[in-house]
Amino acid sequence: MEACNVVEREVDKILLKFGVVNEHAETVLQDLIHHIESLKKEFAEAPANHELTPGQVQILKEAMKKVCETVHRLTTEHRELHGSVSKVGKAIDRNFTADFASTSREDVFSGPEKSHLLNQVICQHFYRHGMLDIAAELAMEAGIKTDEGTKEPFTELNYILDCLKQRNLEPALDWAKKHREALLAQNSSLEFKLHRLHFIRLIQQGPSKQTEAITYARQNLTQYVGRHGKEVQALMGTLLYLPNGIQSSPYSHLLDPTLWLDIHDVFTREACTLFGLSVDSPLSVCINAGCTALPTLLNIKQVMQQRQVNTVWNGKDELPIEIDLGKDGRYHSVFACPILRQQSTENNPPMKLVCGHVISRDALNKLTNANKLKCPYCPVEQNPEDARLIYF
Ligand SMILES: [Zn+2]
Repeated sequence: MEACNVVEREVDKILLKFGVVNEHAETVLQDLIHHIESLKKEFAEAPANHELTPGQVQILKEAMKKVCETVHRLTTEHRELHGSVSKVGKAIDRNFTADFASTSREDVFSGPEKSHLLNQVICQHFYRHGMLDIAAELAMEAGIKTDEGTKEPFTELNYILDCLKQRNLEPALDWAKKHREALLAQNSSLEFKLHRLHFIRLIQQGPSKQTEAITYARQNLTQYVGRHGKEVQALMGTLLYLPNGIQSSPYSHLLDPTLWLDIHDVFTREACTLFGLSVDSPLSVCINAGCTALPTLLNIKQVMQQRQVNTVWNGKDELPIEIDLGKDGRYHSVFACPILRQQSTENNPPMKLVCGHVISRDALNKLTNANKLKCPYCPVEQNPEDARLIYF
């Protein structure tokens, strides 16, 4: 953060300078242009065979001199500006680390197969964000086959989200109707929330829409009395206050515009769950995780260099330290063997012993002696073959 502040101060300085130089240049140039314009006008108005008087020659000479001087001064100012701009660059170099070499593995992105995968991920990211033309261009240039399957859900979802942003509920309602059963199976209240917004929009338009609102509620909201009883009650309550305005009623919170932002999120989440997709694009998840982890990794790199233990970090499939990516970065449980103090892998999975204690398979094999195993914790003696593999 301190580094950002230092750079920001430099940037502020340069912006201030830009402003001053710009203003100055503008006035000087304007004056000059005026002067030349008036001289030009005088020339134009002079008779064809008019000869310049010594005084006029003097004025012309002075004007030319002034132009030369101004250009010279502007160039100098420009050069000085350049110096200040390069100072910003130096501040960035000084305050930020430029060498990330040790925090990544070179082989991760090299090779045609891997760069193809990388392009695919980037392409999918564009599809997800509705940037279809960019995605199509990238797919064409990188030779990625876009089967409609990867593109289709996003095209539809982005269209619906765009409509929701413009407060058009129709496409979202149609979609929710089409997927009603699957949505209910995941305990979704998306369809109800969409109907609720439609109802709120009607009553917001005042008493003239009362009949329409009641008809809409009868047709679309009665089915939710069971699951959303309280909310339906509140919606009906608004009808009482319709003549005097909902704004000054106990139900004014229903007019909160955040409900519209909320529906955007609810729709994205529910639709992604339905299609078995993560809410965030995998690319943004990776980049965010990487950015969060970088400072810690750079720190540990420094420590390792100081203590000259660079070579210790050989098991490159795991990080030299644990990094907490926060709640959003947690996707599945991990198991670390209490005996070997290693995270379990596919080759070394967690095993549950008869007594209920869990250790990794490598630890189990190491502790087994003559087909007998003594649990390192309780210590029940048992047959190692009775241990069961655990899946997270
Ligand atoms: Zn045990």
